Amino acid sequence: MVISFPVCLRAAPAKPALEVVVLGSGGPRAFGRAGSSYIVLVGGRPRILLDAGPGAFLRIGELDLDLDKVDTVLLTHLHIDHSGDLAAFFNARALTSDGPIGYRVFGPDGAGLFPKTSRFVDLLVGGDGAFAYQKTFGAQESFTVRDLAISLDSARTTIVDEDGLAVEEIATHHGDCPSVAYRISYKSVVVVFSGDMDASALPNLVQLAKNADLLIFNCAVLDPPGSPEQLYGLHTPPKKIGEAARKSEVKSLLLSHLAPDVEGQKDAVRKSIRASFAGSVTFASDRMRVPVGK
Ligand SMILES: [Zn+2]
Repeated sequence: MVISFPVCLRAAPAKPALEVVVLGSGGPRAFGRAGSSYIVLVGGRPRILLDAGPGAFLRIGELDLDLDKVDTVLLTHLHIDHSGDLAAFFNARALTSDGPIGYRVFGPDGAGLFPKTSRFVDLLVGGDGAFAYQKTFGAQESFTVRDLAISLDSARTTIVDEDGLAVEEIATHHGDCPSVAYRISYKSVVVVFSGDMDASALPNLVQLAKNADLLIFNCAVLDPPGSPEQLYGLHTPPKKIGEAARKSEVKSLLLSHLAPDVEGQKDAVRKSIRASFAGSVTFASDRMRVPVGK
């Protein structure tokens, strides 16, 4: 008797240690890109939501992403273009869940007009929140929220450290809006998210991004004087992004949070960054998948 074996016994292709799915590559202006938002896959599984700009909910559905293990939420700051879909994400996650969900949410402490992140989550889904019903809608949800230090001289801290996955953060600066940047590491592969930041926070960002495989930098302005003067108090121009990428010795750069005028001058932006940085430079688009450490 002849026993035949399947001809193809090749192993499934190895999954990258980390993969970033761009849900939203835009900023506050409505011009066809969702607001800032990403899902990070760890070992092939969606685990982390980074920012939740308007449109994230739509992109999650378009990409048919499995949210079942996405319990960690990292917010760089609480401008609407980074947080407007947070309640919609909780809704989407709960409606695909088989059991209770315990979220851990990280984001900046409050100042001025901006609530601390724990208050922000409470205003959305707390007992007296606008969407108080969400806590029991589809699944029993609990929220552990940690407010992160926002002074530029506060120390870099580790906020997640489990099973080889580490998340670190450091304060940045984004005009009057408290902001932080995040570094995610798994199996020696590192991706860093700048969030929105002006150039005054570059020393912190350079430190956090040291030797990262991928730095996702929000590129919302042209080099001076190409954008309105007041925007340079909120965002870092391309020339300085290039210098920071070189100083931190990152391997590659993904430019995101794109504004219409930046989108219209990609060649000039790339050239400005290239003056300092020799690694790869890519412009983000919604639904883009970026394997890291393959
Ligand atoms: Zn923004």
